[in-house]
Amino acid sequence: MIRLADVHLDAVRAHGEADYPYECCGLLIGGFGVESTKTVLETVPISNAREESEKRNRFLITPEELLKGEKVAREKKMDILGFYHSHPDHPADPSQFDLDHAWPMYSYIIVSVNQGRSGDLRSWELREDRSSFDPEPILEGD
Ligand SMILES: [Zn+2]
Repeated sequence: MIRLADVHLDAVRAHGEADYPYECCGLLIGGFGVESTKTVLETVPISNAREESEKRNRFLITPEELLKGEKVAREKKMDILGFYHSHPDHPADPSQFDLDHAWPMYSYIIVSVNQGRSGDLRSWELREDRSSFDPEPILEGD
């Protein structure tokens, strides 16, 4: 389960709309609570590292960006809980590319952005055998 305040959900949606028709991506940082419930305390927008021609249906966080994110999280005494990205004009379901590039344990939040407006927002977790994603419940709160 992952807990996000409205301000974080709004930030993810706003980033998705701002980068439309391209995918946005960013980090979710915060802490782990009881029964590994993740609590997001901050969203960190990350530049999109892909080539212009590939910017529509993929997302990628470079190792450099991940390192930078880890440093930010560490300085705030937080952990990286996962990543968010947008799916312009596509559902908030993980793509094969997402599956191929995911790591276990992290949350993957996907927001669907249709015609420039954010719609469905879902969180996913990679199965331990990496065969597919399972939906992760989102707890909205302040
Ligand atoms: Zn995706």
